[in-house]
Amino acid sequence: MPDLLATTPAEPGAEVKARLAAAVESARSEIIDLSHRIHANPEAAFEEFQASAWIADRLRAHGFEVEYPAGGLATAIRAVKRGGRATEGPRIGILAEYDALPGLGHGCGHNTMAASGLGAAIALATIADELPGAIVFLGTPAEEHGSGKQIMIDQGLFEGLDAALLFHPCDRNHVESHPLASEDVDVVFTGLQAHASSDPWMGKNALDALIMLFTSVGLWRQQLRPTSRVHGIIREGGTAANIIPDRTSAWFMIRAEDPEGYGKMRRAFEAMCEAAAMATGTTVDVSFSGWATTMVNNPVLAERFRANMGAYGITDMGDDPNSGSTDMANVSWVCPAIHPDLAICDEGVPGHSTAFRDAAATPRADETTLLAATLVAQTAYDLFADPVLVEAAWASFRSATEGRTAR
Ligand SMILES: [Zn+2]
Ligand SMILES: [Zn+2]
Repeated sequence: MPDLLATTPAEPGAEVKARLAAAVESARSEIIDLSHRIHANPEAAFEEFQASAWIADRLRAHGFEVEYPAGGLATAIRAVKRGGRATEGPRIGILAEYDALPGLGHGCGHNTMAASGLGAAIALATIADELPGAIVFLGTPAEEHGSGKQIMIDQGLFEGLDAALLFHPCDRNHVESHPLASEDVDVVFTGLQAHASSDPWMGKNALDALIMLFTSVGLWRQQLRPTSRVHGIIREGGTAANIIPDRTSAWFMIRAEDPEGYGKMRRAFEAMCEAAAMATGTTVDVSFSGWATTMVNNPVLAERFRANMGAYGITDMGDDPNSGSTDMANVSWVCPAIHPDLAICDEGVPGHSTAFRDAAATPRADETTLLAATLVAQTAYDLFADPVLVEAAWASFRSATEGRTAR
């Protein structure tokens, strides 16, 4: 891992960037302590009460004006530290995620995102007197389920931002990625109970409906593009073998590489749900939520991040070929955004696994967390220092989004 103190950062502004790296290094124990505490106390989407309280507390200690909870979400944070040089100027968003996965814990390593976001905010706060505009920290809950950032966008919490910066842990280093458009789908079949032996003909089997749906989805995959994804789990499959199940439910996710393709998948999936209900005499309730869209990559910001990481000897391995989805993509339709990946483990460790979870609290992950805090702070500084760069990022954003909609 690169030595944050011994390395000369990228120009322009290498002298200030070295001070940012030193500020991250001085806050090392605070940053890593937060990462480990969140890792040891995993909280699922919308329930990140401890993590958000710990982060809000640290931000207050470093002189941020903290709004917590922010907007309508109990675990969202918005914290601002104004620059001392001028009221006018860019408002640069430093984002942090902190939700875990049910039954797995921090299998996506969001503890490192919370800690690196805090670290970047702490470092920038040490030079706030020299900056124009404002440092805006946004603690964004519910990335794994529920699209917390979209809820925060709808509540106006991203208004006025000139950029949004967020690192994600990975087994590789990628500055740009192509997350898929995605939604969660809750499916509930309702049938009719009956004794499964003495009078099964009186029942309507909600489990049969659910099995038909899984079979349809399995056959459907042959006709899907290689970039499309559909996957689900059974939540309720009945209560006893001798009762015809009158209620079953499943949680699916559907994903596609573009919003149009996603729309087609959604309609086909709904038809499969209705077909299964019709065939079994049951009724079905299908509800979609947690919408995430595709990412508007911003080459202007990406180039600055790439230059900053290059100074520490980290090479961009190109676009991430393995796409999940993220509500950070929704933010990328609101303002210029980046969502780079940095490795916390050896290549080949799958995300959302116990192996990745365990990797997220190792010394290597800790060093990557400090590096990410440094690079995010340095990239933010590039924007604070150069109004032309901010305008170029906006020009790139406008040309990529003009005439298109996120959904
Ligand atoms: Zn994640
Ligand atoms: Zn994840």
